[in-house]
Amino acid sequence: MKIALFGPPGAGKGTQARYIVERYGIPQISTGDLLRAQLREGTELGMMARGYMDRGALVPNEVVIGMMRERISEEDCGEGFILDGFPRDISQAEALSNLMDLDAVVNIVVDESALIRRITGRRMCKCGMTYHIEFDPPAKEDTCDRCGGLLYQRGDDREETVRNRLEVYRSQTESLVEYYRKKGILKDIDGNRSIDEISRDVMRALSILEVGK
Ligand code: ADP
Ligand code: AMP
Repeated sequence: MKIALFGPPGAGKGTQARYIVERYGIPQISTGDLLRAQLREGTELGMMARGYMDRGALVPNEVVIGMMRERISEEDCGEGFILDGFPRDISQAEALSNLMDLDAVVNIVVDESALIRRITGRRMCKCGMTYHIEFDPPAKEDTCDRCGGLLYQRGDDREETVRNRLEVYRSQTESLVEYYRKKGILKDIDGNRSIDEISRDVMRALSILEVGK
């Protein structure tokens, strides 16, 4: 099953991806995570991406598309994958469609007013887990439940950058909703609810897809 999770920054794509990984055993591919790994490793690609990420702009397509193409050709993607944060503009969507057809695009729809609160309260662990100080806190403050690592806030999750990222979403990414709706593969999910309620709806949407195969 090849699916993409779609929605503005903070909609809950990474959070929902975790449940899908658990249920279907296919990998989550987050371009943001891949880029942050490059940054941590200090690669040339990471150094190049840093400025764009720090100010909440999109990293140039020639970098991101190549990185994605490589990742989805790896062995663990044989049974499918969950894209999270890709595609982010029409050129990325076209590049992807030249490679393969997606089975579904799950569009998590969240009111603008909730997004800033979700993003600024987000805390990360280097193992990939994500928490929220208010809505999904770890059992022990600042400590990851899964690996015991120290939680941190992403530099681009501070309010000034968040506003920029939301603007970039509106101007460059949001039009993909109609692009995928026209292809007949878009599933809208009301993201203004609890993590569990959303997850139940996402699973329902995906299981219908499975039956349809
Ligand atoms: P995205 O991957 O779309 O940027 P995340 O999955 O990282 O978003 O979620 C952003 C923040 O909001 C995280 O701190 C997460 O714990 C929290 N969150 C996710 N889903 C919900 C929800 N339904 N209600 C409240 N908070 C949520
Ligand atoms: P995310 O983790 O999805 O919130 O992405 C964090 C940042 O990484 C974004 O603000 C962009 O700078 C960059 N990024 C992630 N995915 C993409 C993409 N598909 N295209 C361009 N830039 C991206």
